[in-house]
Amino acid sequence: MIYLLEDEEGIRNFVIYALRKADIEAEGFAVPSELYKAVERKLPRLLLLDRMLPEEDGISVLKKLRSKTETKKLPVIMLTAKGSELDKVEGLDSGADDYITKPFGTMELISRVKAMLRRTQEEPPEGSAAISIGSLFIYPSKHEVSASGEKISLTLKEYELLLFLMKNKGKVFSRDTLLREIWGYDFSGESRTVDVHIRTLRSKLGGCGSIIQTIRGVGYKAGDE
Ligand code: CA
Repeated sequence: MIYLLEDEEGIRNFVIYALRKADIEAEGFAVPSELYKAVERKLPRLLLLDRMLPEEDGISVLKKLRSKTETKKLPVIMLTAKGSELDKVEGLDSGADDYITKPFGTMELISRVKAMLRRTQEEPPEGSAAISIGSLFIYPSKHEVSASGEKISLTLKEYELLLFLMKNKGKVFSRDTLLREIWGYDFSGESRTVDVHIRTLRSKLGGCGSIIQTIRGVGYKAGDE
């Protein structure tokens, strides 16, 4: 999930539309107070931040985010209508990771966002082979799961289900297939079992819960937030 703070509705809609078309989940906000609330609910993987905003300046928003532990390292790309060198320096000095000057096209936007997501993909701690999606890590050798840096306690079936989905990242599985793979059932009568486990798993994973996605009419998959 990436967030956009931009007061101009036209640009906001354009950016959200372009990101979603590129399979990047995005949510837009018009004013800083809305963004702060959203960040408290769920940390995005990246923030696109407009420079000129109502309530407070983009630079001030950036400084606030940088002063908090949770958002200190949040990747931020500043959007600005002013392309002056001074503005750029001010943005980068305040802790922006990159800069896009308005007007920008879809191609530029998407490639800069993707590059930033690649660069900031979290690395698992050294010496432990992990499977990861975003900030969700699973360590098969230690039977451990961590989400956004926090250790998560799962039941055996929840763990096995998560491991199976993450090992097969991006692939969609029907409830019947998951039942067979994880529970070893050979019939489809108990597919609700899968739904119940998916629900508890998502809630235990907190902000990383959206990695487990429902594919309507088909089943479930693990994919990027
Ligand atoms: Ca603006």
